[in-house]
Amino acid sequence: MIVFDMQCSDGHTFEGWFKGREEIDRERKAGRLTCPVCGGQEIHVLPSGGHISKVAAGPDTSSRGPSTAKALADYIEKNFDNVGPQFAEEAIKMHFGEADPKNIRGTMSEEEEKDLQEEGVDYIKIPIPKLQS
Ligand SMILES: [Zn+2]
Repeated sequence: MIVFDMQCSDGHTFEGWFKGREEIDRERKAGRLTCPVCGGQEIHVLPSGGHISKVAAGPDTSSRGPSTAKALADYIEKNFDNVGPQFAEEAIKMHFGEADPKNIRGTMSEEEEKDLQEEGVDYIKIPIPKLQS
């Protein structure tokens, strides 16, 4: 499954879990792709999502941070260790002090995301622009 960040015509953003873009198109045609907030059916897919940990807070970039998605992606690329599919495991270790806190990025399954939420692990998800497909 792939997480897609999606947005309805009213600007609500939410996540959709699909096998691929083809499935999104099928769901959309079948009228099953609706916004969980307003039920709108005009949904578009945002650039592919990524999971970013803020278990260890990096330098505060909120006021002078990257202003474009590309700049943000570059910033994360440089400042966050890519742990790939080990993201959830690493985030939980840091949460419980079993690993040194650091900035990590990676991917995780729907199941792992639930685990993190249950453990109260602090993380954010941001859309990472796909530079090439
Ligand atoms: Zn909506």
